[in-house]
Amino acid sequence: MILGKPKFEAKIDWQVIDTILLDMDGTLLDKHFDDYFWEEYVPVVFAEKNKISIFDAEEKLLARYRKKEGSLDWTDLDFWSKELGLDIVSLKKKMNYLIKVHPYVIDFLKYCQKNDKKIYLVTNAHSKTLAIKMEKTGIANYFERIICSEEVGMAKEDPEFWEKLEEMINFSKDRTILAEDNEKVLDAAQKFGFFRDQLIFVAKSSSTMPVIHSKKFPSIIFFKELIV
Ligand SMILES: [Mg+2]
Repeated sequence: MILGKPKFEAKIDWQVIDTILLDMDGTLLDKHFDDYFWEEYVPVVFAEKNKISIFDAEEKLLARYRKKEGSLDWTDLDFWSKELGLDIVSLKKKMNYLIKVHPYVIDFLKYCQKNDKKIYLVTNAHSKTLAIKMEKTGIANYFERIICSEEVGMAKEDPEFWEKLEEMINFSKDRTILAEDNEKVLDAAQKFGFFRDQLIFVAKSSSTMPVIHSKKFPSIIFFKELIV
């Protein structure tokens, strides 16, 4: 990860590309919601419920989060509701005012639509999180289809995910781009067979975090950089 200028600039040959795969959290939507929810809000509620300090709650929760990172459990709201003894869905709904679309995302979606590109939302997010976010942002209609990892049976960090997705939606590997804020996912997509130039790293995933460019993949800060 590097600050400052990107190592690789994103250049897309729009004549060739007909399919756009887009991640949701951090890519289209401000990751501040997710970070705040899990790192600040849940610890407060967990501490109150268990009559422990917020500090202790943070420590306990972080250890549990870490064990599940990159797995399907990580995004499974039912799993966390059970694991933590909290109603995670209703807590998320309570905080939904923090769910926001990143700047220029709507412009980009409209641009792709106008140019007859097929747009797919491809997310590790749980279907219940997805429902809350689509209701709040109203962007669902831009997508040909929305695919949650639970439907595929594995997380996007697994190269096999992309093979299964190829079968599910029948995209052509040479005419597709993927935008993501998670390098591990881009690594997996590259292993599957995408070329580097087709993999776009979103360097500003949260409105409250600095820009961090990828050393391995072309980076953008905002989607307006892909509109020509
Ligand atoms: Mg993401």
